[in-house]
Amino acid sequence: MDTTNIKRVLVIGAGQAGGEAAQRLRQGGFEGEITLIGEEPCPPYQRPPLSKAYLSGAMDIERLLLRPASLYADERIALLAPVRAVWIDRAGKRVRLEGGRELPYDALVLATGARPRPLPIVGADLDGVHTLRTAADVDAIRPRFIAGAKLVVVGAGYIGLEVAAIARKLGLDVTVIETAVRPLARVTSPEVAGFFLDEHTRQGVRFVLGGQPALIKGRTHVTGVALADGTEIPADLVIAGIGVTPETTLAQQCGLELANGVVTDKQCRTGDPSIFAIGDCAARPMTHFGDRVQRLESVHNAIEGAKIAAATMLGKEQSVETPWFWSDQYDLKLQIAGLFQGYDKVVLRGSPAERAFAAFYYKGPRLIAVDAINRPGEYLGAKSLIQRSQTIAPDIIADTSRTMKDLVAAAGQ
Ligand code: FAD
Repeated sequence: MDTTNIKRVLVIGAGQAGGEAAQRLRQGGFEGEITLIGEEPCPPYQRPPLSKAYLSGAMDIERLLLRPASLYADERIALLAPVRAVWIDRAGKRVRLEGGRELPYDALVLATGARPRPLPIVGADLDGVHTLRTAADVDAIRPRFIAGAKLVVVGAGYIGLEVAAIARKLGLDVTVIETAVRPLARVTSPEVAGFFLDEHTRQGVRFVLGGQPALIKGRTHVTGVALADGTEIPADLVIAGIGVTPETTLAQQCGLELANGVVTDKQCRTGDPSIFAIGDCAARPMTHFGDRVQRLESVHNAIEGAKIAAATMLGKEQSVETPWFWSDQYDLKLQIAGLFQGYDKVVLRGSPAERAFAAFYYKGPRLIAVDAINRPGEYLGAKSLIQRSQTIAPDIIADTSRTMKDLVAAAGQ
């Protein structure tokens, strides 16, 4: 694609990735038209607080916004919302919106995010059964998210556990049902998962591990969750956090390659050189991780994709940063750098009993990821090592008589 011919950029999806892409393009010096199309009724906002401060009521919608609404007009970014894009005509380079309006593009960015998986059981449509992806979802949950209410969380991933933590803080009675035998099974090691299981149990969360929800009970409103083994857990409120599906309807309709997300190259370009895909809906080769094509769900990945796509449209290079992620539960700050999949050794630095430790993941001699709990130094140190493809031997990393800073400096010599 000759980047000098780009006069009109359309971005579909006004979330973290789409909002960033529009902004980065303008800040990078793009002078043409930028149109941001979003189906939600407000400007781009952050999702992480939805299962944290926004759920607890400590943050309002204004503070959730990525930037003030007026800034879009100031930067000549046309924000069309709420409206859904329903069709892409690749040959004619046009996008059709709900209602029939068509918009031409020279470059198109798909930033359509992901949809929560609904519970695949009878009763999932009862009043009081929720998923949690949007501010509107939380607004619907909050009136029943009150002290004494019986909450059942289905799925012990990060979102499920964050919801459980806020619920306990507010005095709800909380049961978490997880089909795997441990929480966080997809996203971390048994060592770190075990720590979070203990912490939540200490805070009064009940866990049903290896539990199979079979039926949501109730006439119009949920009253309980029945498990396959016949037990029933009473519930006033059910929140399902069982993962998401990338939103690829438009990409599929126009024939782009899909593999758990819209497949792109390292520049976030799909098989059609005029179309980019970024954020939760996209999968691209991961630099630092053998160029394995992977879809990530994180703020960092959304921002990274936006930076790369904008730079490519501007004909510039963009360096790639090691993936990072975080989760807040009670007073625990979990910070993750790198990708732990495929690790063959995990080494702990510090002790879980002190509630401040880090798990370092190795593949052979190579450090590939860290989970740091209340240990920001370890997180930053490991992140910079992974970024530079450097490592620290497993037996040395466990030695807390040496500071992380010293170890990182020694690794660079
Ligand atoms: P989204 O933010 O989902 O935006 C996509 C937008 O596109 C949506 O508004 C959608 O409605 C819109 N859209 C889709 N199709 C169309 C269409 N056809 N027409 C118009 N609009 C359309 N990440 C972290 O790093 N740390 C955290 O602690 C963390 N916590 C999280 C907590 C929750 C509750 C959730 C839901 C996510 C959390 N994440 C966290 C993940 C992070 O928020 C996402 O990875 C990030 O928002 C992805 O950005 P995105 O722009 O790709 O998708």
